[in-house]
Amino acid sequence: MAKIAGLRVITAALLVLAAACAAPEQQTAAPGASPASTTVPPPDPAAVGANELGMVPILMYHQLSRSPAGDYDQTPEKFRAELERLLRENYRPITVSRFTSGAIDLPAGTHPVVLTFDDSTTSQVSFTTEGAPAPDTALAILEEFHAAHPEFVSTATFFVNNEPFANDQRALPWLTAHGYEIGSHTATHANLGRLDGTGVQREFVQNLRAIAAAVPNQPVRTMALPLGISPNDRTLASAGNWDGTPYTFDAVLLVGAEPAPSPFGALDPTAIPRIRSGRTPVPFDSGYWLDQLAEHPDQRYTCDGDPARISFPRNLSAELTARWSPRSAPY
Ligand SMILES: [Zn+2]
Repeated sequence: MAKIAGLRVITAALLVLAAACAAPEQQTAAPGASPASTTVPPPDPAAVGANELGMVPILMYHQLSRSPAGDYDQTPEKFRAELERLLRENYRPITVSRFTSGAIDLPAGTHPVVLTFDDSTTSQVSFTTEGAPAPDTALAILEEFHAAHPEFVSTATFFVNNEPFANDQRALPWLTAHGYEIGSHTATHANLGRLDGTGVQREFVQNLRAIAAAVPNQPVRTMALPLGISPNDRTLASAGNWDGTPYTFDAVLLVGAEPAPSPFGALDPTAIPRIRSGRTPVPFDSGYWLDQLAEHPDQRYTCDGDPARISFPRNLSAELTARWSPRSAPY
C-alpha cells in the first residue's frame, strides 16, 4: 500500500505539472531553452513513475447516437465526456499498430490509450457538403477535442467493412491523410466461426482489396474479429491467402474485456483484449477499468518520454520479453 500511495502523490504532481505546461513535450525544457530542441534529455524515469511494462486500455466504440439502440452504442455527449476524462487522467491516444509495434512516442508521465471503432458506420465518419467531418460524428468530436487540447492528438483505428461509412469515397482517404489508421473488419462483417477456411480468407482478401482501392500504399496491419469470433483455424486470423493474394496481420483484436498487456511484456498480438464503452455502466466497461487503473497506477503503462528506452521498476524485469532486452532500462 505504501508503494501505491507514494505513486499516487507522484501522479498527482505530474498532473499539476502537465496542466501548467501548454505542450507536454516541453515539460523538460529548461527556461530559455529552445522549445523545439530535441536534445533535452527526458526526465529520470523514477521521477515520473515510468512503467513501460504496465497495462494499456484499448477502448472499443460502435455507434454514436443521440438515442442509442444497443448496449455497445454511445451518445456523443458520453463520448466527449470520456475524452475529457482520458485527458484529465493524462492519457494520450495512439493507433493499434503503434501500440503493437512498441512505437509509443509520448511525453514522459503520460499513459497510452488506444481508441478503436468497429463497423464503419456514418455515426463515426461522415462529412458535410463542404467536406468537413459532420457534427456529432466520432471523427468531428475527436478533431474538435484536439483543436481545443492540442496535446491530445486526434488519432484512432477504424476497423472497416466493405463499402465503409455508407460507401462515402471521401472517408478512407480523409482518415489516412489525417493520421488515423484503417484496420480490417472483414468484407461483410462475417461470423468467421461459421465459414470454412476458404471463406475466411476470402473475407479478409476482399476487404483488403477494397481498402487498397480507396487508399493505395496504406498497408493494413491490424484486424478486429467481427463479434469477437475467431475462425475455427485460428491461424487464418493472422495470415492466409485467397485468389492469389496473401495477407498477414500484426494484430488481432478481440471484443472483451480488460486492459491489454504491454507490447514489451505479456501481449499476445493474436488475441488483444479491448474494453467496451457503452451508454450505461456494465461490468468491466471503460468506466470500471479506468477507475481500476487510476486506483493502481503502478499497474498502468506510464511513458518515460524516450522511445528508444523501455523503462520500468527493476522488480518487474522478469516480465520483459527477451527480444526487447536491448532497449531495457530498469531502474
Ligand atoms: Zn463489428
